[in-house]
Amino acid sequence: MFEIPCIKCGGKGVIPYYRHINGGECFDCSGSGIEEVSKEEYDAYLENEKFKKRVKEKGTFVVFNKTTDEFEYFNSLKEVTGKYGSLYSFVRKYAGYSAYFCNSNEDLVIKKYYGDDSFIQDFRKQVIIDKKDKLKKWIEMLNEWLKKAIENKKFADEIPELKSMIAEAEQELKAIG
Ligand SMILES: [Zn+2]
Repeated sequence: MFEIPCIKCGGKGVIPYYRHINGGECFDCSGSGIEEVSKEEYDAYLENEKFKKRVKEKGTFVVFNKTTDEFEYFNSLKEVTGKYGSLYSFVRKYAGYSAYFCNSNEDLVIKKYYGDDSFIQDFRKQVIIDKKDKLKKWIEMLNEWLKKAIENKKFADEIPELKSMIAEAEQELKAIG
């Protein structure tokens, strides 16, 4: 197991607001200030700490590139549009968060950081979910074509190729996990 500061009390072991109950000892960590987590949660914690530091240094407007998996930091939306051009005039949801989107670049998601530090992982997860959905739809379509090719002798030549395309797409889907 790995150890990180308790989320509830921020690693202090006590919550001043509850001082009148058992001296304010944190229930989540029994006053130790430490929380035991899995390797995955530990890595996420470290990544979030780095992220928080970068946001502090470089700016709270975060631009996530879905294709390159990179994060960029800006001080204002004006700076973002200065580099990437105009944004949609309304916010939309991405991975459950309100975010801005670029008019001319579909890969970018822009979110202001308010201290809710879990969105980097959630954005990355969303990319994988989207990829899987796209592949599933593609496999569905290929299967329909295959069905037609089997029913209609005119397209019989296409059967082997369609079958190999389906196998390839299914392999890719499996690789994503
Ligand atoms: Zn605690």
